Amino acid sequence: MPNKEVVEPSPEFAHGAIKLVRCQSCGHWCNLRPLVCEQCGSSLLELCSASGLGKVKSVTVVHRAPDPFWRTKVPYAVALVNTDEGPVLMGHADEGVRIGDRVKAHLFVHADQQLVRFVKCDSNI
Ligand SMILES: [Zn+2]
Repeated sequence: MPNKEVVEPSPEFAHGAIKLVRCQSCGHWCNLRPLVCEQCGSSLLELCSASGLGKVKSVTVVHRAPDPFWRTKVPYAVALVNTDEGPVLMGHADEGVRIGDRVKAHLFVHADQQLVRFVKCDSNI
C-alpha cells in the first residue's frame, strides 16, 4: 500500500472558512501573516473568520503551468481579489470572472490541499 502523505489544511481554511489575520488592538485586517500589526504595531494578532467577499483586482489565465500536475489543468484562471476586509487574496477563479467583478471565495480540495476558488456573485451582495 502506498504511503500517502496527507497535507493538513492551512489554519486560514480551518473548518471550511476563509480566515484572515486581524489585530485585536485596533481591528485592522492584515495582509499575509505578519508578526506585528502593520497599522499599530501590536503583536495581538488572531485568525478571524472573513466574509470571503471581494472585488477582482486582476485575472490571469495560465497556459503554461509550473509543474506537471498543473499542466494537466491548463488553461486555468488565477485572480487577485481585494477582500471587503482589506487584504488581497490570490486564488483560482471560475471561467468568465473579470476585473471588477464581485466574487465570493469558496474552498475546494485539489491533490489533498485546500485551495481558494473565486466565484462570481449572482447579485450585488
Ligand atoms: Zn493594530
